[in-house]
Amino acid sequence: MDEQVRSSILIVDDIPANIKVLGESLRADYRIRLATDGEKALKMARSSNPPDLILLDIVMPKMDGYEVCRHLKEDPTTRNIPVIFITAMAEEEDETKGLACGAVDYITKPFSLPIVRARVRTHLELKRHRDTLEALSTLDGLTGIPNRRRFDEVLKVEWLRGQREGAPLSLLMIDIDHFKLYNDNYGHIEGDDCLKRVAAALAGAISRPADFIARFGGEEFAAVLPMTDGLGAATVAAALLDSIRELDLPHAHSPAAPRVTISLGGATMQPSREGNPIQLIERADRALYAAKSAGRNRHILWSPESS
Ligand code: GH3
Ligand code: MG
Ligand code: MG
Repeated sequence: MDEQVRSSILIVDDIPANIKVLGESLRADYRIRLATDGEKALKMARSSNPPDLILLDIVMPKMDGYEVCRHLKEDPTTRNIPVIFITAMAEEEDETKGLACGAVDYITKPFSLPIVRARVRTHLELKRHRDTLEALSTLDGLTGIPNRRRFDEVLKVEWLRGQREGAPLSLLMIDIDHFKLYNDNYGHIEGDDCLKRVAAALAGAISRPADFIARFGGEEFAAVLPMTDGLGAATVAAALLDSIRELDLPHAHSPAAPRVTISLGGATMQPSREGNPIQLIERADRALYAAKSAGRNRHILWSPESS
């Protein structure tokens, strides 16, 4: 099979002899990489060329398999890599714990090679389907609101419309305050839940049909406001701030407030042939940065003097 389309599998076990037979058996169909400790495995998973699937031992010195799996599932860049535990620990509670960490499967030693191969094949197929659907989708998988791809399209279309109609276009960049601390203190599962609620609140607070809100990436959102001047953008920004205040999600460790807050940066431009929407994003981003520096939980609109 072509190296380009062959899936790659990372096998993690502190005792290389344990995985020799397994590795050799899978090498016929897949690109196999090996790691002998958790740190190395995480590094390989976070690299620019991550594996398509990970076979993970549980009992390892320093960092055990559960912890490796937890780290993988916490990191947005590695969380979609399926993890299968391969272990001699056959108690029901071990398996439950493994699956609770986010593994897709749990195989106990001694295992039968044909069964491992079949399961590996199944999970790789499922991952390929998920990746394809995600690539075709214009919705963000976690929050269900439009994703970055859709945002780019909408911004381009609205820039052209504003140019044609001679109407101003506003953009708001929105970023959750101290969200790293939220994850650190409540965990990533709660963090994901928070992102969903914030997304729903923001989407619910947008009132005009032409207004559009998307997940820009991570804990950042963006609102495209066609035919809206600076005054209108400030009104929408204030409404979005209100919607998150009303959500009233506790964030005990935030220096900005005892609840989850957002900061917003806005910019308004008259779209023209000479300009381009990237400028609008850059200005809104600069204003967002200013809102963060000024203490967060507020909005600031870009102006020529402010940059
Ligand atoms: P600031 O107020 O300056 O924006 O601080 P911050 O902590 O929000 O900013 P920073 O950029 O340092 O951290 C962003 C955090 O958002 C880190 C990252 O783990 C988390 N994050 C990004 N995407 C996701 C996600 O999909 N789920 C979860 N749970 N967390 C995410
Ligand atoms: Mg951010
Ligand atoms: Mg943030």
